[in-house]
Amino acid sequence: MSQDRTPKRSSRAARPFAAMGSLAAAPLKPLRDGATEAVLDSQLFQTLLADALDRSAPGETILLVGIADGVDATVYRAGSALPDARVGRPVREQAESRRPLAYDRYLRLRRLLSLQGARRPDPPAPASPPMLRSSGWKYALIASRCTVCGAVETPPGRVCPSCGAVDSGEAYSLRDVGCTVVSVTLDRLAPTPDLPVSIAVVDVDGGGRRSTEVTDVSPDGVRVGDRLTPTFRRLHSADGIHNYFWKTRAEER
Ligand SMILES: [Zn+2]
Repeated sequence: MSQDRTPKRSSRAARPFAAMGSLAAAPLKPLRDGATEAVLDSQLFQTLLADALDRSAPGETILLVGIADGVDATVYRAGSALPDARVGRPVREQAESRRPLAYDRYLRLRRLLSLQGARRPDPPAPASPPMLRSSGWKYALIASRCTVCGAVETPPGRVCPSCGAVDSGEAYSLRDVGCTVVSVTLDRLAPTPDLPVSIAVVDVDGGGRRSTEVTDVSPDGVRVGDRLTPTFRRLHSADGIHNYFWKTRAEER
């Protein structure tokens, strides 16, 4: 769905797209000394607030106004710890790098269009005990690096696969570490409304090899040698429980 064809107020479903279009185009305007103005027509309060926090200097004031069923106005003051608390890609950068989305694909991704399910049993709902045991790897992509030989193990384990040392691994975050595709295939049976899914085996910069689902890319758009970067996404949902993990997307050039 292209931006100019998106009706701004025709339906609730279309509003997120209109809002992201406005977000990419709307600069924060100086209001008076030490203050900025951020008033946009949107229901994406959190997104707009995150964008304002991305670009506010400590001490600046953020006014967030929501006009929907009534008016909500919230005033924030950017704290001194804000610059160090920023992680990941800025909201505006994500909005500007968005790709056009066909309407039928949008309906499938939002599950507004009923389609035949995957041609294999649905995956089980994620269980709490294994999620807790592997929470460092699952939520923060923390691998282990052997203090004896330096080998990186993904996911982390007690025994180093390279030198055999036991309990020699130290926490080693791969969250912001890029990787290179060494093999790729297409999964046409994955439990997702947007098939096929690109599954790649990647070599992580600095050591380690793992398999990963590549997202935000066309099915034939992944090649051996491509550069990817981790991104935290929903893998699937089962029994009303969402299962999140790290996929990869193309590295910004
Ligand atoms: Zn080792």
